Amino acid sequence: MGTFKAVVIEKGEGGGKGEINQRVSLQDFDEAGLMDGDVTVRVTHSTLNYKDGLALTGKAPVVRRWPMIPGIDFAGVVETSSHPDWKPGDAVVLNGWGTGETHLGAYAEKSRVKGDWLVALPAALTPEQAMAIGTAGYTAMLALLALERHGLTPESGPALVTGAAGGVGSVAVALLARAGWHVVASTGRAEEEAEYLRGLGAAEILDRQELSAPGKPLGKERWAAAIDAVGSTTLANALAMTRYGGAVAACGLAGGMDLPTSVAPFILRGVALYGIDSVMAPLPLRREAWARLARDLDPAALSAMTTTVPLADVIARGPEILAGRTRGRVVVTIA
Ligand code: NDP
Repeated sequence: MGTFKAVVIEKGEGGGKGEINQRVSLQDFDEAGLMDGDVTVRVTHSTLNYKDGLALTGKAPVVRRWPMIPGIDFAGVVETSSHPDWKPGDAVVLNGWGTGETHLGAYAEKSRVKGDWLVALPAALTPEQAMAIGTAGYTAMLALLALERHGLTPESGPALVTGAAGGVGSVAVALLARAGWHVVASTGRAEEEAEYLRGLGAAEILDRQELSAPGKPLGKERWAAAIDAVGSTTLANALAMTRYGGAVAACGLAGGMDLPTSVAPFILRGVALYGIDSVMAPLPLRREAWARLARDLDPAALSAMTTTVPLADVIARGPEILAGRTRGRVVVTIA
């Protein structure tokens, strides 16, 4: 058995209240330390998601076993498999299922996982493109699918995207715009990112502050649909300004875990709130989301929202994404 390069989080002694005392470093990891699984993958690309930032910094208890290799998503090539669906050489994608949390994750040259967790890399996407989409983009598509299932179309009215310049937000803006929606992009970085967001297809830029201060239980009806990556008062205001019969897909907590809302939007306007979870989403839904991403996401928009960093640099990027200073998506090149 050999070793492979991996970012490793080790637990230190003590730590203050609410803090996790941990060390994070790039190491040679012993292959014998890989966890159980029926498929071993040579990982070529991963990404930086908000949750990876939480794991890398220890700012929230994302990591549940130590040592941990963080990284919640990867693209790679099957090396060995005893799973009936996979054989050596297959190109695969993985999102969630606890990788980087309870199961050794993606910031490594090698990963051993359950074959049931894998999705085939869509033929139209390169591994780099799949990871430019990553868990953030796949979550944006899960949110769009929920809004479509509600019966909403671009003819229903505008669509709001919050946290628009972030990963989920950027992909959501690009997907909605390409599908013909009038996209209202809410950002806290309008000065720096308005041009970027218009380039992705946003029709209107809304200052984050308009949504982040506590508002009325019901406001002016401004959009028929919303994809929210922020939570807290932003989600409450998004709901309060959703048109009669519209829907909001909630997928994030970048602004907080709370939801200070009332029942007014639900019982007076028939507004629906859909919860979006990417981690344990069933395989048929994952396959549908990846097929739609391969078909519907404009490759030029994807490339415009993507920055690429080598594995060694991802550690320093953790605090950056939590501070809301990351634009769009970050691909991590591993091999
Ligand atoms: P990013 O950091 O890339 O994007 C988050 C964006 O939210 C920022 O770019 C910023 O956008 C905005 N933001 C940040 N801090 C605040 C704040 N205090 N108040 C208001 N807005 C803020 O993260 P991701 O796109 O990777 O993830 C976004 C959220 O979605 C996270 O909470 C993440 O945990 C969640 N998520 C959930 C998934 C699920 O399965 N449900 C899967 C993937 C992500 P701007 O500068 O434009 O205002």
